[in-house]
Formats: sequence, C-alpha cells, structure tokens
Amino acid sequence: MNYKTLFESLVEKYNIKVSPSGKDVYSPIDGSKLGTFDEHWNQDLDDSVQSLQKTFNQWKNYPAPKRGEMIRLFGNAVREAKEDLSKMITLENGKVYQESLGEIQEVIDICDFAVGQSRQLYGLTMPSERQDHRMQEMWNPYGIVGVVSAFNFPAAVWSWNFAIATIGGNVVLWKPSPKTPFISLMLKSIWDKTCEDADLSWAKNVLEMHMGMNAQAENICLDSRIRVVSLTGSTEMGKSLAPVVQKRFGRLIMELGGNNAMIVTPEANMKLAVKSIVFSAVGTSGQRCTSLRRLIVHNSIKKGLLEKVVTAYATIKPGDPFSEDTLMGPMINKQAIDKMQEVLTYCRTNGHIVHGGEVVGDTYVNPAVVELTKPDPIVQQETFAPILYVIGYESLDEAIEIQNNVPQGLSSCIFTDNLQEAERFIGANGSDCGIVNINIGPSGAEIGGAFGGEKDTGGGRESGSDAWKQYMKRSTVTVNYGSDLPLAQGVKFDI
Ligand code: NAD
Repeated sequence: MNYKTLFESLVEKYNIKVSPSGKDVYSPIDGSKLGTFDEHWNQDLDDSVQSLQKTFNQWKNYPAPKRGEMIRLFGNAVREAKEDLSKMITLENGKVYQESLGEIQEVIDICDFAVGQSRQLYGLTMPSERQDHRMQEMWNPYGIVGVVSAFNFPAAVWSWNFAIATIGGNVVLWKPSPKTPFISLMLKSIWDKTCEDADLSWAKNVLEMHMGMNAQAENICLDSRIRVVSLTGSTEMGKSLAPVVQKRFGRLIMELGGNNAMIVTPEANMKLAVKSIVFSAVGTSGQRCTSLRRLIVHNSIKKGLLEKVVTAYATIKPGDPFSEDTLMGPMINKQAIDKMQEVLTYCRTNGHIVHGGEVVGDTYVNPAVVELTKPDPIVQQETFAPILYVIGYESLDEAIEIQNNVPQGLSSCIFTDNLQEAERFIGANGSDCGIVNINIGPSGAEIGGAFGGEKDTGGGRESGSDAWKQYMKRSTVTVNYGSDLPLAQGVKFDI
C-alpha cells in the first residue's frame, strides 16, 4: 500500500489544509513523512478563546436535548467516515487497523451515550429544615473546556471529553498530540460539516483547535478564561501542568500514566488468562494507558503459565498494521524503541531473564517477557512499550500488596473462579485502581463506565456513568416560598 497516496486522498476528501512548512508528521509504519501542520501561537489562542466565549453564550442557551441532537448527527457522520478515520489513525500512530476501527467505534458509542445523557442532566432535590423552603441542585456549564490529548488514543479520549462536555453546554478547545494531528483535523472537519448540514453554522465554533507541541498545552493551562482543563498523557506531563492550572484555581480532569497488573491465582481458568495476557500486553504494541505491564502469578503455577505466554508471544510477528494477519504494528517512533531497549538492557544486567524484545526494524520490535529473579524498582515505572514483567507470589494478600505497590493506579484485574478471591480483590482491601476487573484483562474499557485512575494516574473520571458532572458547575439552590425568613440551624436574628 502506498501510505503517502492514502494520506493525500484522506486530507483532500476531508478538506484539510496541509501546511507547506511547520511541524512534520511521520508515519511509524515506514518512517515516511506524511505532512506538516502549522502551530498556533498566542494570538491564535486569544482569537480562539474569544470566539469560544461568544459561541458559549449561544450554545449554553441552546436546549440540552438539541445539543444532544447535534452530537447524534456528529456520531452518524463519524459512522459514515469510520473507515477513513480509522485509516488515518493507523497511518499516524501505527495501531493495527482492527484496533483503529475499535477506537472510532468508541467515538460513535460515546456520541450515542451523550445523546441520552443530554436529557438526563439531573439534579437532586433534598428536604429543607426550614418551613416552606425547598433545596435542589442545578448543573450548569463552566464555559471553555481545554482538552490536551495523547498520541495513543488520538480520537477516543478527545471524544469522551467533547461529547460529554458539549451536551452539558460547554465549548471545547482541543490541543491534540503533535504525533497525531491529522486525525484531529479530520474530526474537526466532520464536526464543521455536521453543523453546516444541520443549518447551524455558528455551532462550528463550539470546537476550536489549538495545534502544537508542549508550549501550546502550557498556554492553555495558563489561560484563566479556560475554566476546565482535561489532560491526557504521561504522569510527567500531569506533574508539570497540574500546578499551572491549580495556581489559577482552574478545574482539572487528569488521565495520566498507568502501570497495570493482572493477578493469576491457582483457581484461574488458564486458557482465558493466557489469551487475555497476550492481548492486554501486546495489543497496540503495549502503548495503551491500560496495557498489561505486570503479571503477578501464584508460584505454584508460574512456570507453566510463563511457558504458555512465551510460546504465544513467539507466534506474534510485528508487521504492517494494515494487514489483516498482523496483531502487533510498529511502535510510535524510534525513541520508543530505544527506551524499551534501554530498559531490557537494564533488566539483563540486573540478572532478570528476558524473553523476546528484539528490534526487528526501525520502529518494529518483538514483545518482551521479563521474568524477575528478585524485586526490582524498574516495575515502578511505566515504560510505554510491550514489556511484561512476571512476578511470583505466595498469598493473595501478598499479590494485592505487590499490585498496589506502584505510584500509578489505573487498571487492574484478577483471574480466578474463586468467589472469595474475586470479592476480596474488588473490596476495600483489594485493588486501589480506578478500573478493577475479574476474569478480563486490564486493557480497554467500555464507554458506559467512568474511566480513570487513582494516585499518579491523576484521579480524573471521563466517559460514562456520572463523569458528566466533572464538566458542570453544581449550584445548591435554596428557594423560600413562604412569608417568613427562618434561618438555618434555628439561629435567631430578629430586627
Ligand atoms: P505525553 O505526555 O508525551 O503527551 C500528551 C500530551 O501532553 C501531548 O499533547 C503533549 O504535547 C502534551 N505534553 C506532554 N508533556 C508536556 C509538558 N511537559 N508540558 C506541556 N505539555 C506537555 O504522552 P503521549 O506519549 O502522547 O501518550 C502516552 C502517555 O499517555 C502514557 O503515559 C499513557 O499512559 C498516557 N495516557 C493515559 C490515558 C488515560 O486515560 N489515563 C489515556 C491515554 C494515554
């Protein structure tokens, strides 16, 4: 396949301006240059913010179910463009095409969810202690939501923010990853066309782009007119940007790094476990925030399970992500390969046993399994690559302690058919993560639940359940419909 020709046909079809100069974007598939995009600077930011403020005044007064209707139309347009959008993801980030289709399906799913949610921005009512008074909660939009996104889910994570924030009446400023700018420009183009086709041209400005590198993300964080900032990316990024937003008391939603584990007990269905281990650790070339990084397995079954996993790994041949037979595509770039090799060298030097992990091309690598021979601090860090550490345990308490003993707290799972073990894992003495699965790997999630994690993962929740509340300002309203003015707690103040 000629990737350059495919890229050019997509940008032409979706009317995307490819700048003659600016920041270059390369495909991880073959290292070829796809195109160039222009960075946005301070004046652009100011223009976008002013335009968003103006649009917010209209959008927040446009009824919520009608906002939902626009998201329904957008979701339908994404359905129609599903294959094109998926091709762009694979071109830009190297994800296998099947997974790119899954990512765009997630965009469609969250749009469907948001349509229903637009009629369910419910507030509680509660009894007042005062005579002839009523209390209730109102949920109103904040205004501009800044979204900074990562390369590895360049469409889905933005869509969780966009669909849910906008049905609530907010407007969105999007700073995508510089590694995957063109999928975001395609989605913006589809939103614009959706608005034009619906005869609601002004709503195009509900979404504005702020293209660039790290400096552009920082400028969004500095701007106090942007009330909510949603940050998706590494924990280092969150540590650097969170104080900038907190200093001006902006509202933060953070989706940062993970270091996800699976506990396999002697009572697990091994067939399920092996399948799940391989998908969770190798899928997306180990470049999911929820990728399986640590396999915590009971000592009595460790040898047998390890053999099965290593045998399954040997069948995986990294290759062209557009080919139907490929289960693992390239890594995002050469730096990611170098980082992985650095960690594997460290592991060998420290006496651990490394299976696989060989470099097989500029951006291609075999997935690696590392059998730890002793406890090692290397497992504390998220290496964004297909490296799976295998750690033995004796008691379930010990396994849970190992699982929780990392800075991150995104996703976790246990494989067991024992009810007591499973219940213990999901309870107060169990996993400390935001995602806690039983007999399912840690990787991937459905949009219906709230997505996010604890500790160094940032504590944010996005997507389904009641995550919509993160984008809304809650006001507690007390109404006096009587002819007296009683004070709360029976306080007397007669004049
Ligand atoms: P990254 O942190 O390098 O970049 C993410 C975004 O933040 C980009 O838009 C980038 O320009 C910006 N950025 C990065 N460092 C910055 C800084 N110091 N100052 C200002 N802006 C900065 O992440 P990535 O390599 O694109 O994605 C991989 C990381 O994202 C992994 O750690 C992964 O776990 C995490 N991630 C988390 C989730 C989640 O939901 N928890 C989802 C996807 C990815």
